[in-house]
Amino acid sequence: MEITLVLGDITEERVDAVVNAANSSLLGGGGVDGAIHRRGGPEILDECRKLRASHYGGGLPTGQAVATTAGALPARWVIHTVGPVYSATEDRGDRLASCYRESLRVADELGAASIAFPAVSAGVYGWPMDDAARIAVGTVRRAPTQVTDVRFVLFNRDAYAAFARAL
Ligand code: ADP
Repeated sequence: MEITLVLGDITEERVDAVVNAANSSLLGGGGVDGAIHRRGGPEILDECRKLRASHYGGGLPTGQAVATTAGALPARWVIHTVGPVYSATEDRGDRLASCYRESLRVADELGAASIAFPAVSAGVYGWPMDDAARIAVGTVRRAPTQVTDVRFVLFNRDAYAAFARAL
């Protein structure tokens, strides 16, 4: 597996699968979620709504992942995963690690060879970037997966620097 860091917008990545830091409703939100739905178009939301109705009436649980079309994005699939909200009093690192493991498991099911991750939970959900980066890199490195090209796409220089330290 090759791990690459990219400074930029994940919606522009030419990979098989782009991971979305979704919220459990799967019905869109701000941050990277908003960007993916804006750029990818309404097809993604249509599939999300169907998934809600068929499988996730109570929402997609934290730490799990599910795939939809990528609509108009250059990627083939979007893998939606729900990160935990950061807590200073409770260790939720296992659930954040699960987002990366489960996303790679879904990617394997799809037959994806390349995947792009954002810094899950490190935006609105408040996870400190260095810790989020350490968990992301450590989990992906240890994951049993067929994916050979993993990119972490970081939206600003601070995030990029944190992932560079973690690598
Ligand atoms: P969460 O709710 O899981 O914290 P956010 O979308 O708020 O998710 O933030 C996750 C990370 O994604 C943040 O570091 C944010 O700066 C970054 N981000 C926002 N938009 C994009 C984008 N278009 N491409 C890549 N990363 C993005």
